Amino acid sequence: MNMPCSVIRDLLPLYAEDLTSEETKELIHVHLDGCPDCRARLETLKEPAAPEPDASQALRGVKKSIRRRRLQTALLAALLVFLPLFALLAHSTDKIAVPYEDGLIAVESVENDVMTFSVDGRVSGVDSQLCPDPDNGETTLLVQAWSNSWNESRGLAPERGSYSVSPAPDRVIYGYGTARSDKQELLYGEPMQGGIMLLPRLVLGYYLLYDAVLAVIFVLLWSAKRKARAGEIFRCLFFTTLAYPIGHLLIKGPHTLSFFVPRDLAYILIAAAAVWGLLMLGWSLWKQKRRETV
Ligand SMILES: [Zn+2]
Repeated sequence: MNMPCSVIRDLLPLYAEDLTSEETKELIHVHLDGCPDCRARLETLKEPAAPEPDASQALRGVKKSIRRRRLQTALLAALLVFLPLFALLAHSTDKIAVPYEDGLIAVESVENDVMTFSVDGRVSGVDSQLCPDPDNGETTLLVQAWSNSWNESRGLAPERGSYSVSPAPDRVIYGYGTARSDKQELLYGEPMQGGIMLLPRLVLGYYLLYDAVLAVIFVLLWSAKRKARAGEIFRCLFFTTLAYPIGHLLIKGPHTLSFFVPRDLAYILIAAAAVWGLLMLGWSLWKQKRRETV
């Protein structure tokens, strides 16, 4: 019995690999004897197959991506350990404004334009800020003593230290002014015209506000350009604006008032950088996982 060519051609791959039964083989033999077309087809099947894509290279790619993911996971874990430790360090060294009391700080002398203060040993340090008055050229020095739990736990002896500034200001006021107590003390010079100068340091609050505005802009740009290359950049920028308030929360808690802005800002930025790393790594790992399950 002769088989149609279409049936034979379906069977040829099996025949070429010698996977057919004896009866089928016999049928194909008979057909091939009388059909040059199918013989030609068999010849092309027996030609060596095109080289497979380099398996070892594919394997190397897989190994590389596994190694990269391990590295990312390790980095993620390291950041997760670092962040709480860093927040703890920030809290234990946090500068706490010391409210004024008699003998805490006093102007001792003014000589050769150098003003020297005596400072009580209960104080860990003194920060100051010089505020010139553009109307009358007078300068007012705002001083604020601080301590922190780190120094308190070391039990500083109540001995006196000194602190000096130059040029000597016309007036010295203790206390940056706080939201909790507005108590300020005139340490030197004439009282200020028009009342006491208050400097509640709200700048960290403004930074959060700017950050929130930028976050909205970047998340909108990200979703608009999701498919494009620029989308990646906007995602990075959005993560930055997301990391900043988290860094703030870790260092300052819910407070936006800061007497010591440079110190607080430095800590917040370091924490925010770590949070940013977590977000980027987390995103990358989540994406890889999702790509695999699809
Ligand atoms: Zn045929």
